[in-house]
Amino acid sequence: MTGTDFIAHSPETKPFWDAAAESRFVLPRCQQCHRTHWYPRGICPHCLSTDIDWQESPGEGEIHSFSVNRMGNEPYVLAYVALTEGPIMLTNVVGADPATLSIGTRVKVIFKGAAPEAPVPLFAVR
Ligand SMILES: [Zn+2]
Repeated sequence: MTGTDFIAHSPETKPFWDAAAESRFVLPRCQQCHRTHWYPRGICPHCLSTDIDWQESPGEGEIHSFSVNRMGNEPYVLAYVALTEGPIMLTNVVGADPATLSIGTRVKVIFKGAAPEAPVPLFAVR
């Protein structure tokens, strides 16, 4: 067993993780009500359709709310980021002094992970 054997993407989320492996950010978009949603899943949370497609996104948005956790060696920022497309996602804002952040700070997705096979969407100040 290797360090990434635990990663088992479901068929519903595989397109998201395949794109993330190429540093592309895609959002699930319902083909019935034409709304995007977060998190990736095979059913639209707005209209319950299973007709989901994937939309390329620049991964831009703004901090909707955030909290600074100072329990570890270095503080880290847990944030809700409101994407330009509408969905709000729970994530981390990295690479910035937490004291410089505020609600409304513009951020852009970056991908980082414990292993190249497991990139996770995080956000950095634009
Ligand atoms: Zn829908």
